[in-house]
Amino acid sequence: MISSFPSINKEKIETLQINIGYKCNQACKHCHVNSSPLRTEKMSNEIISLIPKVIEKYKIKTLDITGGAPEMHPEFRNLINSLSDKNIEIIDRCNLTIFFEEGYEDLPQFLAKNRVKIIASLPCYEKDNVELQRGYGVFEKSINALKLLNNLGYGKRKDGLQLNLVYNPVNPILPPSQEILEADYKRILFEKYNISFNNLYTITNMPINRYADSLKRENKLDPYNKLLKENFNQNNLENLMCKKTISVNWQGQIYDCDFNQQINLNGNNGPKTLFDLMNKSFKFDYEVAVKDHCFACTAGAGSSCGGTLS
Ligand code: SF4
Ligand code: SF4
Repeated sequence: MISSFPSINKEKIETLQINIGYKCNQACKHCHVNSSPLRTEKMSNEIISLIPKVIEKYKIKTLDITGGAPEMHPEFRNLINSLSDKNIEIIDRCNLTIFFEEGYEDLPQFLAKNRVKIIASLPCYEKDNVELQRGYGVFEKSINALKLLNNLGYGKRKDGLQLNLVYNPVNPILPPSQEILEADYKRILFEKYNISFNNLYTITNMPINRYADSLKRENKLDPYNKLLKENFNQNNLENLMCKKTISVNWQGQIYDCDFNQQINLNGNNGPKTLFDLMNKSFKFDYEVAVKDHCFACTAGAGSSCGGTLS
């Protein structure tokens, strides 16, 4: 089916987003990666060794590490250590509960020592809503993890260790205003638990994979897609994250964004693998591969891995 989503072009790449493996200690209902403790796919050491080289060659500013629970990859810490002299921003998309799994007790200290920016999912400040989406016991662990990070200096100052939270709606609706919700989160988390953080990113749920399946079972997928299309906002096209990001899967294959990666949507142009990026020189001006799921990025205030767009 041809999509009615407008055509967009790549620009100079600033962010390399890598999905280092699908294994996760959780199995959330909305997970667009279908991660769980049973997944075994993970990036090889050969591919991981290319990452610092690609960063240097293309003068990339940010390495954004996702999974699964990225910290469960045996090379996670070595990769971060290998970038310590590169002066780049490193992001860990952390689920918070990983800190309480056996063998990961010193992970918060490692992240703080390496000044890794943490982006963590907390879909609500209410226990019931969090656990409906992310599973029983997740809320209390998340709160304890945030306290731990605060004690290490995370989320306290604008120019200090960065702790950002991610909100995504529990129901198939657009997220509310990021600014207003951030103020609510800050007030409630501080009043109830003495927790601080830097920014809240509101992210629109992507109607793909496990989330699309669960909507389909409830006959909510078509209305949700309709809602996304009806709220198309032209102004968001300019800031779409796929313009300045490349996303790499655990096998080293390249996509325009993490969502395209998860549905294996590739364009005809541009590099296909990390090996291509190293062996040839690319100009990032080719067309992004788009389909109807892209309307989740342009609906309302827009959505990206870094929150709203407009
Ligand atoms: S914590 Fe993240 S990666 Fe793991 S199952 Fe949940 S949404 Fe997926
Ligand atoms: S899903 Fe969003 S980020 Fe990805 S290609 Fe479509 S518009 Fe771009």
